[in-house]
Amino acid sequence: MIDVIIVPALSDNYIYILTDKESGVTACVDPCVSELVLKTLELNNLKLDFILNTHHHHDHVGGNLELKKKTNCKILGANIDRKRIPEIDITIKNGETFKLGSSIFKVHETPGHTIGHIIYHFFEDKILFCGDTLFSFGCGRIFEGTQEQMLESLKLIKSFPNETLVYCGHEYTESNLEFAISLTPNDQVLSSKLREIKKLRNRGNPSVPSKLEIEKKINPFFKVNDKKFKEDTGLIGEELENFKKIRKMKDEF
Ligand code: ZN
Ligand code: FE
Repeated sequence: MIDVIIVPALSDNYIYILTDKESGVTACVDPCVSELVLKTLELNNLKLDFILNTHHHHDHVGGNLELKKKTNCKILGANIDRKRIPEIDITIKNGETFKLGSSIFKVHETPGHTIGHIIYHFFEDKILFCGDTLFSFGCGRIFEGTQEQMLESLKLIKSFPNETLVYCGHEYTESNLEFAISLTPNDQVLSSKLREIKKLRNRGNPSVPSKLEIEKKINPFFKVNDKKFKEDTGLIGEELENFKKIRKMKDEF
């Protein structure tokens, strides 16, 4: 079992600090900065053993160097990105499993946002760290991969159990919901979700984690092949065609 501490950083990034309850082994997902992580570790009496990077973007690896220097932690990242992830120690290939103390996780390649993007799935805990692949009610921009790859990556995540808690890389939930509402304005679930998220955010709380069940229900990027969604939006194409269309609309939203 892992405990997760959510650390908001920069303007809208999330860093996650995970501790295996049994052993106390601790990891940090995507440290964009180091100071805040060190402070949180100290406050919680934790020692950093690993950094888990989802991809090479600076707002996910910016704290690597300093954290390694100060804590002597080991850094995990995609083998494909071994030249782009600062101070990487352990390179991962698709489908490999690792243990954080007694908590097991599996790594999946999810190309699209970047070529070497990976996600960390603690399948026994039903907890997923998905970086910039899936966002709550949205998905990442496609910078390096193809649209096909991004769609496949999202479909992989969609295949995980409904109870999965999704910890994504950024707080984009409100604007994602506003975009989703622009596609299907009559969807009451979307508008009530937006009201709920606005309340949370106004109190200064993060909107993460989200549950995969609700993502499957209302995240438009999960619904590009959904009959009702196609009817409601007038998007009558194949799933890839619809995906490309709404990704482009979101880029311009
Ligand atoms: Zn990114
Ligand atoms: Fe990012």
